[in-house]
Parts: sequence; C-alpha cells; structure tokens
Amino acid sequence: MTAQNKVILDVQHIGVDYFSRSGTVHAVSDVSFSVNRGEIFGLAGESGSGKSTLAFAVARLLKFPAEITGGRALFYPKPDDARSEPIDILQLNKKELRDFRWKKLSIVFQSAMNALNPVLSVQTQIIDTLRTHHPHLHRDEYYQRAVELVKMVGIAPERLKSFPHQLSGGMRQRVVIAIALALNPELIIMDEPTTALDVVVQREILSEIQNLKNTFGFSVVFITHDLSLLTEICDHLAIMYAGKIVEQSNRQTIMRNTQHPYTHGLLHSFPSLYGEKKQILGIPGHPPDLRNLPPGCAFHPRCAFAAESCRTVYPSLQPVDASAADHLTACHLYDPRLQPNGPPKSLSRQVVNDEPQTIETDILAGGQ
Ligand code: SF4
Repeated sequence: MTAQNKVILDVQHIGVDYFSRSGTVHAVSDVSFSVNRGEIFGLAGESGSGKSTLAFAVARLLKFPAEITGGRALFYPKPDDARSEPIDILQLNKKELRDFRWKKLSIVFQSAMNALNPVLSVQTQIIDTLRTHHPHLHRDEYYQRAVELVKMVGIAPERLKSFPHQLSGGMRQRVVIAIALALNPELIIMDEPTTALDVVVQREILSEIQNLKNTFGFSVVFITHDLSLLTEICDHLAIMYAGKIVEQSNRQTIMRNTQHPYTHGLLHSFPSLYGEKKQILGIPGHPPDLRNLPPGCAFHPRCAFAAESCRTVYPSLQPVDASAADHLTACHLYDPRLQPNGPPKSLSRQVVNDEPQTIETDILAGGQ
C-alpha cells in the first residue's frame, strides 16, 4: 500500500472562528492531522478545546456564526475508485456534499435522543436514510437492509417498530450507529458517542464499534474528553488544547512516552483499572478564554513547568526528536534552544499506566 493509499483523510491547517459581539472566538487554529485507512484516530481534550468544532468543520456541518477561516480536508478515494484525485471536502458544492455525506463520510452524534426523530419509528428513520440516497429500491429491499443494519449493531429486528423513547440509551446509540453505517461509508466521525451512557454499556458500544470496524474496514475519527477511552481503542491520537493540537502520536507512544504536561494531566485524571491505588491528579485552573488567549503557550497559566519563555514564545508542534518523527509535541521543554537540559526529571517520572488497558481484556469478554 503506497503512502497515499494508506491515508483516507488529510486535514491541513484548518482554522475555525465563531463571531460574537464580545469578540471572535478562535475555536480551532491551524490544525493538521491525517487518518489512515481502517484505523481509529482519537481526538481528545477538555470541553472547549475545539475537538468537536474541528470534526464538524471536516464534515461541513458548521453554521453561522462559525466560519472556516482556512485549510483543506482532503479525502482520498479507495485505490479501486474510478476517481483517483483527492476530494477537498471544504470545496464541495451543495449537491456534491449531499452525495458525499453518508456514502463516504457519516457522523454519529453525542446525544442519540437528539440525533433521532422522536416521532418516527427506528424502521422509518433507517429507511428514510436509505431512500434519500437510493430512491429506486423496492420496499422489501429497504426493509431487508434495515433488518441487516439493526442486527449488525446487536438489536433484534422486532425493535424496528419501536420509537426512540421506547429504547434504552445504549440501544438508541446503536440505532444511530446503524444509520451511520447504512450506506457503507469509508469514514465515520463519532462525536462523544458514549458520553451519555453508563460504563458497562459504554464498553459494549466500544467493543461493537471495534468489531464493526474490523469487519467492514471503515476508519473512525473518535472524539471524546475521556482520554482513557482513546487509550483503549485508538491506533493514533491527538490531544487538543485551546484550539490546537499539543501532542500527537500512536497510542503506545502516548501511553508510555507522554511528553506534553497537558497530556500528562489528562492521563492522571482517571483511575487505572489495574495495579495499586494511586492518587488522581487533576489539572489546576480552567481552559483559557478563546477570545483572548494567553501569550506564548496557552497552557502556561496551568502548567507546573512554565518558564519565562513559555509566557512569551509560542511553541509550535514539532517532532520530539529525530528518531521519533511521528511523535509531535508543542512544548518548549523539548526545544534544546530554550531548555538545554531537557525536560525536568519530575515530568519524566510522571509515567502513568504501565500497560494500555485494551478492550479485549477479561472485563469485556463477558460483554461481547
Ligand atoms: Fe508548559 Fe511551557 Fe511546555 Fe507550555 S511550553 S506546556 S507552559 S512547559
């Protein structure tokens, strides 16, 4: 597989602003990342870090007062697709976008109750999606596909007649995933798909997503504030703070060789399922006002390692070192010109979990 065939989505220098009377909110600034075919790419960060805005920008779902201020979102067709040129999603016209969405890229929203129409049955909602894109099928074919889809996500076909309020939270989220899968998309953006669910159902849905991804080969951009989830299911992940990516790498590297103090803080914000009990350390302070970001590193008012340069010089996203080109971080601690002695030992001692907790562990075995 060539490098180009490997990548399905290449986001380049995207920026998004929200306009308000009290000032312009720079929700996303100059963000770039790429997603490989068949992988789960995670975007993590606190509320207001810009992760959902970024995903909505890529899916072209933002409305005024939001505005995409620049960048590209290149979607690479499958190697066997008649169209070989990448598609810049941000440049599609309305008709092209209608054809593109759901067939190539679909979205699973945070709240299934809001994503589903409360006065239509599950069957009607699935068939409506199918009919919009394939208007000439026979009604038996629509029904058969609806049955196939609900079975795929672990719901009995008898529940097709149910209305959303007659289903549990987990079942509603499964229905939303079934609708997202209706047209066999190559990429699915999942925006906090398990946030409103209890932990057991959350784990079942995560397991379901992984199984479906392995079966059908689609890619996922998985957005959550809960970094512990991403460390279970993602292949690569990016950590966002104040509208920018501050650290990015594969899952193992982020878990075992965390570099950015903000990532350290997030990884210390949830308890480990294994090993001895440890004190959970939060991140002091609050996310910054995106209308008026602090100068230099936006994290400096909350960072235990902030030096004078952090208050004045903006840290750009750079490879941690020459031998780890796919591990990027935006922190002066790894810039030998500003920190000749390297990061303080107290930071490297903050290694979090020794082993990533995988979804295939015994805890989930019973739920599959
Ligand atoms: Fe902390 Fe400075 Fe690194 Fe920002 S650049 S995360 S303030 S050490």
